[in-house]
Amino acid sequence: MPAIAEKDLKNEFVEAFDGDDSGDRTPRQTPGKLYSKAEPTPVANPKLLGWSTDLAETLEIESPTDKDVEILAGNSLTPSMFPYAACYAGHQFGNWAGQLGDGRAITLGDWSSKNGIFELQLKGAGPTAYSRHADGRAVLRSSVREYLMSEAMHHLGIPTTRGLALVSTGDRVLRDMFYNGNPQYEPGAIVTRVAPSFLRFGNFELLAAQRNFNQLEQLVNWTISRYYPHLTGDDRILKWFEEVVAKTAFLMSEWQRVGFVHGVMNTDNMSVLGLTIDYGPFSFLDNYDYNFTPNTTDLPGRRYAFGNQPSIGYWNLGKLANALSLLFEDTDGLENALNSYEKTFWDHYYSMMGRKLGLDQIKKEEKELISRFEKVLSEIQPDMCLFYRLLADVSIKATSEEILQHFKKAFYQPLKPEEQEQFISLITDYSKRRKNNSISAEASRQLMNKNNPRIILRNYLLHQAIEELEKGEKELFEKLQKAMKNPYASEGFEELVEKRPVWAETKAGCSMLSCSS
Ligand code: AMP
Ligand code: MG
Repeated sequence: MPAIAEKDLKNEFVEAFDGDDSGDRTPRQTPGKLYSKAEPTPVANPKLLGWSTDLAETLEIESPTDKDVEILAGNSLTPSMFPYAACYAGHQFGNWAGQLGDGRAITLGDWSSKNGIFELQLKGAGPTAYSRHADGRAVLRSSVREYLMSEAMHHLGIPTTRGLALVSTGDRVLRDMFYNGNPQYEPGAIVTRVAPSFLRFGNFELLAAQRNFNQLEQLVNWTISRYYPHLTGDDRILKWFEEVVAKTAFLMSEWQRVGFVHGVMNTDNMSVLGLTIDYGPFSFLDNYDYNFTPNTTDLPGRRYAFGNQPSIGYWNLGKLANALSLLFEDTDGLENALNSYEKTFWDHYYSMMGRKLGLDQIKKEEKELISRFEKVLSEIQPDMCLFYRLLADVSIKATSEEILQHFKKAFYQPLKPEEQEQFISLITDYSKRRKNNSISAEASRQLMNKNNPRIILRNYLLHQAIEELEKGEKELFEKLQKAMKNPYASEGFEELVEKRPVWAETKAGCSMLSCSS
């Protein structure tokens, strides 16, 4: 297997499209350009903190030597690399934001392996033409989060970009974490991100906003031929959009399955491959709160709250459809495709909830039961992850008292009498229904435990791991890296299977986070 320094990378995007090859990294508008060349800015003292052995196996890439770590830190390039920042636009928090682009992500090139071609991208490697007023850097805090979480999502079985490596830079980065005018220096880091493509809805919105018909058509056709090669007919653009709609609906249902809240679902953070992309102020749900948003910038509107994600997915697809409408004489097809989102989402959602609840089929009765779960859980707000694992094991014959006792570990506060009543009645009715399954009790239990993770990377755990790393200790970081590889395992890492502790409820970084990273 070759190491990073040894292999010739391809550069298919830059070969296919117009870009600014000057290497100028002065922030600017680049109309008509799909990328700008941007060499990474060297760092003082790179150290490899994390390396994803699973992903390295998929890529057939050798463990990094010191020479490779220099590449992962942006300190050196190989002759076949053409470092660039992609230009895209987007809607942020519902408003058109114009040109954005990779302000701190630099793609080095395409790595081919027998498992496909993957873009290698350094996040935090210094300024590009799209850095606007910012520094192009990333802090250790946000880099650890992206590196661990993207791998964790992969092991949860959810489509995502991946994290190959985490390197600390030895440089300090100035950040105003609380946006309160007290910026502080924090250690810097770089994540090597990997995906077949990082193309976003925003890449297409940019060209549409520029009325750049030819390049828009070229980018759409390129995306289809590379990532959707089975679509070849004259109607391929519409078929492609239909597939993006379906993939997005599936992704939203998968996020709801595990309680993942992205936090910044702007259209520049939406992948046209249906991947989870751009990990920022994300969080898993601790208590089951549909209104929870982990992003302090998302207050007070809570646009990107847990319960809103599926409808925001739809809203974002509407913006992509608008961009693509430039390529259509009439928009009926696009509108129909967009309208298919709702049914596709609910089909995925009910089948996903059926698996979470260990039910053999979903009809009217089961849909009503699912609605009751949603209502009662959002009122009582148990810990989502603990609740579903306990649910798999609740005895069909449990008395009211035994039910309350069984779920005790999942409650954040004692239930009021009327909540107890609602909860017991829900669990009793659910158990009755589960008893009527055509599948065995054990098969039902297994189905649930394959769909309800036992180990999730809670924000407070990430926070603790980061605090330790900042002191030079790697124990919890390595433990999390190991534990998240088997999120559905029924044993091991007991200490990670706990609800969020009281101290973490209001602490910054443990419940809510800012975008400042
Ligand atoms: P996000 O919503 O966090 O994915 O980022 C929105 C935009 O801001 C993207 O264009 C990013 O590249 C850019 N951005 C975020 N942080 C930085 C930074 N530290 N330096 C330069 N650009 C940044
Ligand atoms: Mg982004």
